[in-house]
Amino acid sequence: MPSATASRLLLDPAPANSREIPRQNRVYVNRNLRLDQIEMVGFDMDYTLALYDQAKIEELSVRATVHKLVTIKGYPDAIRQLTYNPALGIRGLVVDRTHGNIFKPDRYGSPGRAVHGHQLLDRDQRAELYQRQRTPLSNARYAWIDSLFALPEAVLYIQLVAFFDTYDGPKPEYAVLWQDIRACIDLAHRDGSIKAIVSADLPSFIDRDPALAETLHKFRSSGKRLFLLTNSAWDYTNPVMSYLLDGVLPAYPSWRNYFDVIVVSAAKPAFFTDDNPFVEVDSQGDPLPGAVEKSFVRGRVYAGGNVKALEELAHARGDKVLFVGDHIYGDMLRSRKSSTWRTAMVLQELEHEIVTHDRMAPSLAQLDGLERQLRILDAEISDKQTLLRSLQKAGDGEISGDVASAKRVLKEQLDKLRDDLRARVAEHTRLEADLDAAFNPHWGPLFREGYEISKFGEQVESYACVYTSCVSNFRFYSPNRHFRGPRDRMPHER
Ligand code: IMP
Ligand code: MG
Repeated sequence: MPSATASRLLLDPAPANSREIPRQNRVYVNRNLRLDQIEMVGFDMDYTLALYDQAKIEELSVRATVHKLVTIKGYPDAIRQLTYNPALGIRGLVVDRTHGNIFKPDRYGSPGRAVHGHQLLDRDQRAELYQRQRTPLSNARYAWIDSLFALPEAVLYIQLVAFFDTYDGPKPEYAVLWQDIRACIDLAHRDGSIKAIVSADLPSFIDRDPALAETLHKFRSSGKRLFLLTNSAWDYTNPVMSYLLDGVLPAYPSWRNYFDVIVVSAAKPAFFTDDNPFVEVDSQGDPLPGAVEKSFVRGRVYAGGNVKALEELAHARGDKVLFVGDHIYGDMLRSRKSSTWRTAMVLQELEHEIVTHDRMAPSLAQLDGLERQLRILDAEISDKQTLLRSLQKAGDGEISGDVASAKRVLKEQLDKLRDDLRARVAEHTRLEADLDAAFNPHWGPLFREGYEISKFGEQVESYACVYTSCVSNFRFYSPNRHFRGPRDRMPHER
């Protein structure tokens, strides 16, 4: 439900000052983006236009996957009885399939926290496994949890590692356990175990955004052409898109009226790297004979394809295309690396992160204050240590009474400063743990890992020109808005 302020804004023309827009509805800018220069806006479907009820879809994915693990891979029936805790999965986690661990890396790849089953690894274990002998995160030993569809995989891995560590019967190796979970969830997506249930009860699984139609209309009214680019096949895309958009605005009786080009089964990220041809499909989603020539035809549906062919057939220049998606790898990273498309990322979790951030603002300010004090204490301690050392050197040989008493005083001061430092470090640790728990009891905030930005946060910063919590937030802005990013600064410029 939009908030009262949000509803009021809906009736107003776009506010020129984004400070008038509630923080959880704003579009955040990493890199300047001039919407007046954008001629085509493309949308991914799942988790971009179609926002899922995460708890519901996750429960369904877990149930379907566990069923396959038992019936196809021969896993013990007892795993059906486990309670799968959704809070165990967030985006940006990395699975170490060799050791059965999952960790959350910071922007430098260091795991701030890591678990083995339900066991938290301590600092020494983390250092031993991930810092002393450093394996790049791109190594095949690691798998990334980078889309909301993948959260159940993390949850299942954590819970099944814990289960098998104390299981008496035969148990899979950690790498095989990961492979089996991956294969079963993949199959559940492909064989209809998930999609048939979602399509049969769309209102239970998809949060229909009442402002989506108006948002798309606003883009179109400013002269932009729209396209849909989804990995879902036609038989799933059609009912989901109908549920979201059919008949919402009188001028658009069918969802298809909003889009100039419709592409299904796009196979992103390969769409951005390979040269698969476009194939036109019929109303059943079956391929029609013949190649797609010269131009797309409005109202028809295409499958497959690649980025270069899309630009040619849609007569669109890459840098005039804005693509709105949710998947860091398939939608954001690959498109930024392999094309000149601009990107907007939809982050469903952003609302929770912003609301929590605002609620915890006093504690965050306290944390900043403590960090300032820690810096001052550190500096004082090192100054006094230097002084003490020079006194010790000066006093080598015969120690005068003055030097001895100065050293005694200095030592006392140092002891006091060190006590003070220890107390504040403990307070900092306690406060940070409380703050982390407010975001997620196991993993803390999505975009931070301790003192650093998380790896996931860094990827959002690097590959999304702008980001926001849902597509309809764009309705608060002019479709010709110049989104200006903050000036990038080096530490010495701040
Ligand atoms: P998009 O986000 O609209 O491009 O669509 C994502 C599609 O990928 C949906 O149809 C999902 O069901 C599907 N999907 C997500 N994860 C997997 C997987 O692990 N294997 C196969 N399909 C998947
Ligand atoms: Mg998606």
